[in-house]
Amino acid sequence: MFITALIVAAGSGARFGSETPKQYHTLAGRSVLAHAVGCFRAAPSIARVVIVVRPGDAAPCRELLERDGAPADAYVDGGETRQASVHAGLEALAADAPPEAVLIHDAARPNTPPELIARVVDALSAAEAVCPALPVVDTLRSAEGGVAGDLVPRDGLWRAQTPQGFRFPAILAAHRAQATIPATDDAEIARRAGLGVRLVEGSRWNEKITAPGDLEASARILEATAMREIRTGLGYDVHKFGPNADGSTDHVMLCGVRIPHDDGLVGHSDADVGLHALTDAVLGAFAGGDIGRHFPPSDPQWRGATSDRFLRFAAERVSARGGAITHLDLVLICERPKISPHADAMRARVAEIASLSEDRVSIKATTSEGLGFTGRREGIAAQAIATLSLPAQR
Ligand code: MG
Repeated sequence: MFITALIVAAGSGARFGSETPKQYHTLAGRSVLAHAVGCFRAAPSIARVVIVVRPGDAAPCRELLERDGAPADAYVDGGETRQASVHAGLEALAADAPPEAVLIHDAARPNTPPELIARVVDALSAAEAVCPALPVVDTLRSAEGGVAGDLVPRDGLWRAQTPQGFRFPAILAAHRAQATIPATDDAEIARRAGLGVRLVEGSRWNEKITAPGDLEASARILEATAMREIRTGLGYDVHKFGPNADGSTDHVMLCGVRIPHDDGLVGHSDADVGLHALTDAVLGAFAGGDIGRHFPPSDPQWRGATSDRFLRFAAERVSARGGAITHLDLVLICERPKISPHADAMRARVAEIASLSEDRVSIKATTSEGLGFTGRREGIAAQAIATLSLPAQR
């Protein structure tokens, strides 16, 4: 079955009480909408993902989703209400690439489990309309002016969720026929059109973000359930002995620590070979290019720059993706100066720059037994491995 996911992201977030609609807020390093799109892009049964946006939002929305690594296949302008937006989306599908079935989903549900999408799709093989729902388990009570009133029987009551699945021609016809009769969800439009709506089990993880506090709750759910992946990156750098960028020859900078020596290290910046290798390792772990791409030696503003800014930049890029550096391991290769007296200070400084605890930073040193350029005391080499935990890209 050819199935398109239609994600409704046209709301202004009036109940959310913020200038920015809730679907564009950031949750664990990506927009709420990107999380929602990612859930459907990862579902093998879904062929296309189409987003309904507020008129005028298509270009910024596309840009945002591309940045977040979750682009959609098409963007459609919505209408004044949710119902009008869904209708506009369905008409766009009808005009472009009409699917056999459509899953209509709220952008403000960023954590729809794959098994829930599968349940809706499976049920569609024997039903014209499918609605995931959870039984109401809390006691329901009326109230007026903060005073409790009568109990409301909860037997037979269900909370409807999305994605709701429909045979495409049937839901399109139902929306066309009821364009002026308000409904808060598509299952209701289907039911009024005489379609049988099959309920399937919803998911407690699939809650909708409605109030600002829900973002935090959602972030916790994502933390608890989201797949994370471990990435590693390799960094390597060499600088040769000679005058430092400021002309001095009485010290070298290694891992952000000034170490007295009878020579300097030649480089455009402060030639901190340790921080350069660490920076490239961190960048490498998320395929973020290398230090030369972000801080070109040809750019005079980096002349004599202290290298802490390079590692800090890479660490901040990791946080911006909702990730964390879990470990840095560095080996400095040189015959001189002696590293071990300074290793603790270096660990402390690297931990500070990368905002890590010191037990996540390892700094080691070795000689090369007099062999090669390091053995001939022509310079210092450094190798680093960074280990990162990142949200899995769905
Ligand atoms: Mg370098």
